[in-house]
Amino acid sequence: MRRIDLTAWRSNIADGARTLRGFLARRMPPPPLRIGMSARLFHPRPDATGLQGKRMQYLEQSVAHWVMSRDVLVFMVPTVDKDSLFHRSNIRVGDYARVLDGLVLQGGADVSPLTYGEEPLDGEWAGDRLRDVYEIELLHEFVEAGKPVLGICRGAQLINVAFGGTLYQDIRTQMPEAQAHVTGAYEKNMHQMRIEPGSGLARLYPGIETTRINSIHHQSIKALGRNLAVEARSEPDGVIESIRGTGKSYVFAVQWHPEFHAPGDDSVLDSAPILDEFLRTARG
Ligand code: MN
Repeated sequence: MRRIDLTAWRSNIADGARTLRGFLARRMPPPPLRIGMSARLFHPRPDATGLQGKRMQYLEQSVAHWVMSRDVLVFMVPTVDKDSLFHRSNIRVGDYARVLDGLVLQGGADVSPLTYGEEPLDGEWAGDRLRDVYEIELLHEFVEAGKPVLGICRGAQLINVAFGGTLYQDIRTQMPEAQAHVTGAYEKNMHQMRIEPGSGLARLYPGIETTRINSIHHQSIKALGRNLAVEARSEPDGVIESIRGTGKSYVFAVQWHPEFHAPGDDSVLDSAPILDEFLRTARG
């Protein structure tokens, strides 16, 4: 009777498994990234009926589609209310950070001055304290989980405040010498911007020192938060337009809206390197 050579048999099996794994890795594309996006909040109008009388959570299409331009699944993350009157759940914000590969903090309402220890100078600038609390927890959980965070417009201000910084409540009032950072032209309002030499942004755009970006904000960063570095300022007024976390976890934010820059438009900064760096980090 022929004896089975167990050693050779095992090594044949191991060879076969290696070949199969290599074959599958070549044939199967990596799974699409899962990127979370913070919700914009619509607060119910007391005298309204129908949807206007409801609390709504929504996202702006262009920012979702910008991120989805790279075979990415985008998930809007609703606020997590563990102790709602009607439903109790054990889901925590941290559960989203575990499942998703990265977070985009999208634009929208003003950050409440209360969130950085100030009183609103004008009732119009009271901001959305509820959204601040929700997004700060989201940011914290993604940073803790080592997942990258990209802030856009309000997202940049929120990140600065979450790291202990403050904001100008209204650029026109508190920095009267500054140019108009928001006009009726909305995303067509543009201004010059200078990229800080040696910054992460400068590495993303070799050879570009000054550029043009859109500007749709009436608040801006005043005192810079801890563990943050300024990567770009508007010209000529020096308003902070981009910040990056100096810690281990990837945190990067821009005051403009990269999703509004049309691909191939040479008159404005190309948004692709920003998205690609964020997604590369999310891929790990
Ligand atoms: Mn601006």
